[in-house]
Amino acid sequence: MPAKVAHVNDGGSAQRPAQTAVIPLATPDLSGNEGRYLQECVTTGFVSSVGPFVTRFEKMVAAATGAREAVAVCSGTAGLHVALVAAGVRPGDMVIVPSFTFIATANAIVHAGGVPWIFDISPADWNLDPALVSEVLAAQTRMEAGTCIHKGTGRRVAAVLPVHVLGLAADMPAFVALCHDYRLRLVADAACAIGATLNGRSIADMGADLSVISFNGNKTVTSGGGGAIVGNDGALVGLVRHLSTTARRGTAYDHDQVGFNHRMTNLQAAVGCAQIERIATLLDAKRRIRATYDHAFRQIQALAPFPCGDRAENVCWLSGVVATDGAGASALRAHLNASGIEAKPFWKPLHLQDPYRNSPQTGQPVSEGLWQRVVTLPCSTHLTEADQARIIGAVLSWFP
Ligand SMILES: *Cc1c(COP(=O)(O)O)cnc(C)c1O
Repeated sequence: MPAKVAHVNDGGSAQRPAQTAVIPLATPDLSGNEGRYLQECVTTGFVSSVGPFVTRFEKMVAAATGAREAVAVCSGTAGLHVALVAAGVRPGDMVIVPSFTFIATANAIVHAGGVPWIFDISPADWNLDPALVSEVLAAQTRMEAGTCIHKGTGRRVAAVLPVHVLGLAADMPAFVALCHDYRLRLVADAACAIGATLNGRSIADMGADLSVISFNGNKTVTSGGGGAIVGNDGALVGLVRHLSTTARRGTAYDHDQVGFNHRMTNLQAAVGCAQIERIATLLDAKRRIRATYDHAFRQIQALAPFPCGDRAENVCWLSGVVATDGAGASALRAHLNASGIEAKPFWKPLHLQDPYRNSPQTGQPVSEGLWQRVVTLPCSTHLTEADQARIIGAVLSWFP
């Protein structure tokens, strides 16, 4: 066997010792048709929001989410914003949202003129807790002519916005029932959940009026930046499309509402098409990476796995571990970073963010007990077995 590492570097033409590259948290795999499709956009001149890739991408997103229709937009955040407006959220309305989410979920409510009403999550799946929502709605609202009113402020409660955290679907049947009882709209933040199912139902069939996907660079399927609103109510999705396209009527400059310029470009859709062609492979990789970590760390008392639900239904957007406390998590992250492995914290809950500290909210024992303990681990879909073995070795070495 040759020596593993060549120590001699004569400064001339000899090979330098290989530098160990940092293993990044999540980078896109652009090894399919991405380049070819982008070149096609340039060759044909279709670079803006009109173009064949946009239409093709919308069809593919609809298929991947079980939706009758999809509208491609410029980001998940923009998608949430227009979905809330289309669902009837008006200035001053309250929208129920979990604290443990990316800040964009709450920002979209505020952009729509609404007030985020921030609820704690369930420890089992890290998603908005339907039992808590039910209890608080019963105690703190009253129905007035078919409208749900928050007793403390007199505000209308307009919608519930659950998040499918990490690609594990929220308890949608419970939210469908609640929304029926209180006459609320149900919009799902499925930003990181493309491909997820619940009891065999795809995202658009879980009961939400509209669901919103993100194609940001760190998501399982990316278009560089982008998003989509999916749903089965043709009129409602049509309104989303109309609002996203400057609420333009016909081909002249005739606009019937204050719309948005939120459409996705053909360039983004070209990348998105090439990605979604390989969605089965990308989802398989994410699930395989998660299962490998969970198996490797199952004996470590000081680490808990991310919630997995039914493995076949969870799309395992990011992977990682949960330490026993915040100090343990930061020590582990520092150890991994020093070993050339990108390991990061995860979302800081909304109610601890400056813009939302004073928002109406429930107590947050679960979110607060959880967020500082989370350590995300590299999980790019093209992560090699050797790199994952190196990461696992580095984690195991921290717990002798
Ligand atoms: C990524 C993400 C968003 C935002 O999507 P963008 O495309 O980055 O605007 C919103 N909510 C959740 C839960 C996300 O993971």
